[in-house]
Amino acid sequence: MTQVTEQVKAYGNVINGESVPAQDGATTTSIDPATGETWAVIPSSSIEDAEQVIQAARGAFENWSSLSARTRGDYLRKVGDMISEHATELLELETRNNGWVLDEYGYLAEVLKQVWYDAAGSAALLGSQGRTVQMGTGDFGFTLRKPYGVVVGILPWNAPLFTFTIKAAYALAAGNTVVMKPSESAAVGSLRYGELISKILPPGVLNVISGSGRVIGDYLVAHKEVNKVSLTGSIGTAEMITKATAKSPKSLIFELGGKSPNIVFEDADIEQAAHGLISGIFTRNSGQLCVSGSRMLIQRTIYDKVIAHMKELMTDSEFVKHGDTLDKNNTMGPIANEAQYKKVCSYIDETAKDAYEVVFGGKYGGEHVLPGQPEYANGYWVAPTLVKVTDNNQKLCREEIFGPVAVAIPFDTEEEAIQIANDTSFGLAAGVWTKDLGRAHRLIDKLQAGNVWVNTYARVGVDLPFSGVKESGYGSDSILEYTQEKACVINIR
Ligand code: NAD
Repeated sequence: MTQVTEQVKAYGNVINGESVPAQDGATTTSIDPATGETWAVIPSSSIEDAEQVIQAARGAFENWSSLSARTRGDYLRKVGDMISEHATELLELETRNNGWVLDEYGYLAEVLKQVWYDAAGSAALLGSQGRTVQMGTGDFGFTLRKPYGVVVGILPWNAPLFTFTIKAAYALAAGNTVVMKPSESAAVGSLRYGELISKILPPGVLNVISGSGRVIGDYLVAHKEVNKVSLTGSIGTAEMITKATAKSPKSLIFELGGKSPNIVFEDADIEQAAHGLISGIFTRNSGQLCVSGSRMLIQRTIYDKVIAHMKELMTDSEFVKHGDTLDKNNTMGPIANEAQYKKVCSYIDETAKDAYEVVFGGKYGGEHVLPGQPEYANGYWVAPTLVKVTDNNQKLCREEIFGPVAVAIPFDTEEEAIQIANDTSFGLAAGVWTKDLGRAHRLIDKLQAGNVWVNTYARVGVDLPFSGVKESGYGSDSILEYTQEKACVINIR
């Protein structure tokens, strides 16, 4: 059993405003993916803990939902204020959790704050979101926006604090109480975040429980007293949740994966586009981003030029710097956990096949990616890897890898680019690089994706919805999605 020491801290579940261990005392370890070493101990919760957390949220619902929306907004604004004070601690925990280099995270504290403030403001407006309906029958109809009840948020390991925030802030603003279930491989930041938030909100309004998805995740989502589930995760988990909720149907939001095309036309600003292709996958959490532009579609006339430029940048040791994830000078971190590391490595092995031509990368392991730095030898390091592909049917073009591995596919015409881009079961995001405004609009119209970016990539904001189409899911974490419209009719005859 791992000893709790000054270096290895223990974190608890957050239930009814208290930070508590699992009832049976079971724990698991949190591994720093940069070094492979244990750095924290977290609860390995059981069904008994899951039941307790649901009852805590259920018990707090009546009072929380009865507050005026403005009062709830006041609470949420205080949560936003709290983030400034604890940003450094939270971001460091997140970085040690999942290897996202701290420098890239700089913006995150601002985004989290913005979401809490936006949710606070939206709460104040919620009372005016109902509709009046002239029924023409001597009846007066109107609708009210009511909260669902208990909302369970199921979080992925790649962006725990962000997904925690967009789910919790809007669900709470709408009057729901919440249970957050972070990924067992990256729960520390969420447990500490929940502890800080629970000191601001009434007990039981926001709870956090850490444990296995198959055990407590499944129990939480199937529970009859849970009214809504919002998952950010993989299509496999969405399938399990769909089955688990079949006997107690509830409203679902699924924010799932992608195999997103990032398309460069010959009229684009090549320098800008090359940087956009790179930051769309490699230098953004080492490709562990749902919207990663993992399929680079490049017009044949500029294909070699763009690839050569990317190679020049990605083999420049000043541009790509692996190493200590807390060092702001580094630009790329490791893969977040062992299971995902093994998965990404299997795709790197796949690149050795004849169907692919490796442009750069193609290696993994601390000793190869960070040679001469033994402290990283057991970390989950993968070199950013680009392969040339001619056929979108190849395995690397079809499966979500969720790591720094991208394919470059040539195309000749706009129609062909659209056809290849849409030839995937996913539909989360797409990028388009062109100076032709008409073309940009045609692609926005035709691309099957929940998010399309032109001459930029992965730009999300509190003012815009974020969701996918096809197997990338449905629904979006927003205040209205956390309310249900109640229809009312008064007989005025
Ligand atoms: P995952 O699906 O393996 O796990 C997500 C969460 O589901 C974890 O908390 C896990 O414990 C839980 N879970 C697993 N089985 C469960 C079950 N039977 N019932 C309830 N919960 C269960 O995903 P991951 O590997 O943590 O994250 C990577 C995936 O998330 C990728 O597919 C990525 O594209 C996707 N993602 C999507 C978005 C988005 O907004 N669309 C954002 C980030 C990540």
